[in-house]
Amino acid sequence: MLSPAELSRYSRNILLNEVKRSGQEKLKKSVVTVIGAGGLGSPALLYLGAAGIGNIRIIDSDIVETTNLQRQIIFKHSDIGRHKSEASSENLRSLNPYINIEGVHARLNRENAKDLLSGSDLVLEGSDNFDTKFLTNDICIREKIPFITAGVLRFEGMVMGVRPGKDACFRCVYENPPAPEHVPSCADAGVIGSMAGMIGTIQATESIQFLLNDSERESGLFGKILQVDSKFMEFRSILTIRRKDCIVCGNIH
Ligand SMILES: [Zn+2]
Repeated sequence: MLSPAELSRYSRNILLNEVKRSGQEKLKKSVVTVIGAGGLGSPALLYLGAAGIGNIRIIDSDIVETTNLQRQIIFKHSDIGRHKSEASSENLRSLNPYINIEGVHARLNRENAKDLLSGSDLVLEGSDNFDTKFLTNDICIREKIPFITAGVLRFEGMVMGVRPGKDACFRCVYENPPAPEHVPSCADAGVIGSMAGMIGTIQATESIQFLLNDSERESGLFGKILQVDSKFMEFRSILTIRRKDCIVCGNIH
């Protein structure tokens, strides 16, 4: 199933006992949807694509702006003004022509979310707003799609993995989106570009291991929130607890 060219390309994966040829074939069959080709999505997409995740869908409604290039490393200067979904797909394809990449120029909403996320083995959420994070949570829980959600701001970042019916969901932890005026964005508060790189890379690393081991893996980011404070270079992981009265996952088993 893997061609000689692919076996050579992925040889450093295949050398690992945890991967081998069978694991690489599993990655090739995997379907991952990435919401947001931004600071988190860029490194996540590059590593997922390079690792040979066979089917990647990229959902983004923005265009590439000059201010993005400080951290959104999947784009080049010449991509300014292009749709992010299209430019990121094209750049990822030039890194690895052996995988299927679908760019979707759309903003995730209640009407399109089910169609855009269905069929995914895993969803990575790296948008810049809480509405999308809560929407991703609600749809993934309902459709029983595992997901890894993350955020960064200034020198800090967080990442959390959720297996529906098993782990606490985003709403178990945060309940409702905060009022927009209470949430600073990267556009007004700033962010260290490599901080987004760290968190997006953690999302990719966890994704690859999750796809290799299905949901049997008990360690890792699922059922936890990892908080990173790069000013002190501190990593802290907190176990999440399911709420029986959670309006989204309370009756999901
Ligand atoms: Zn919940």
